[in-house]
Amino acid sequence: MKIYIDGKFYGKEDAKISVFDHGLLYGDGIFEGIRAYNGRVFMLEEHIDRLYDSAKAILLEIPISKKEMTEALLETCRQNNLKECYIRLVVTRGTGNLGLSPDRCERPTIFIIAASLELYPENFYKEGLAVVTASTQRTSPAALNPAVKSLNYLNNVMAKLEGKLAGVHEVIMLNSEGLVAECSGDNIFAIKNGRMTTPPIYMGALGGITRMALFKLAKELGVELHEVPMTRYDLFVADEIFLTGTGAEVIPVVKVDGRTIGEGSVGAWTRKFMGAYHDLTRRSGTPIFP
Ligand code: PMP
Repeated sequence: MKIYIDGKFYGKEDAKISVFDHGLLYGDGIFEGIRAYNGRVFMLEEHIDRLYDSAKAILLEIPISKKEMTEALLETCRQNNLKECYIRLVVTRGTGNLGLSPDRCERPTIFIIAASLELYPENFYKEGLAVVTASTQRTSPAALNPAVKSLNYLNNVMAKLEGKLAGVHEVIMLNSEGLVAECSGDNIFAIKNGRMTTPPIYMGALGGITRMALFKLAKELGVELHEVPMTRYDLFVADEIFLTGTGAEVIPVVKVDGRTIGEGSVGAWTRKFMGAYHDLTRRSGTPIFP
């Protein structure tokens, strides 16, 4: 495995970051999780744009251009000779001292890992997931805005652990008003009477790239899709629910807090979107090996 750090490639054993890096000391940094399918990186431009938006929001100036970042990412895939992979792109504030202030951090650290994929078990997609609502709320957009894909994931980790204790693989997170925000690592969609809804980003969610792809697919499939504030009630009475994320793709949910959703099996629309998303990942993307 070859890992990119600040313009150079290192073997797994030698790919190391300073203990004074503020990404580690303070979670001061940002990242992206990206996937490549069949030799093409899916929605790469959108991921790069979101990375630079996250950087802007936290006053972090990425020392290389979007074009250079794109090339570094593609080169990391090439160096590892991967056609299907999960790519983790991280930019930290850089190496500083023990103080909180980024003033002493000279240059942001950039690293890119391209790894072969660990897929979710097939039965998750065939049978659907059971989820519960976490009591850990999503951070308020007035605190650390969840729209920033920051290295500060403890909020999500705490919620995920609640799910683990409850024996489920994903959890729903509410905002401080008790409205549905998203899941610990996925966005959420519901369908009722043929109308699809998802919470707006300002409710406290990450602007997921897969979510973005779903908007495009909904248009193509002629499904009505609205961004509206949602309560747990809206989820309980939905005909179908699914989650979206780069790793999970489109994954059905059949139970929320003990309530069976719809028929308790994967719904027809969800199946359609799972297929349409799968097709989209195969018919688009930036070629790794031009
Ligand atoms: N919400 C959170 C909190 C996430 O971490 C992620 C990414 N795993 C998502 C939503 C989905 O975003 P994307 O579709 O860009 O992977």
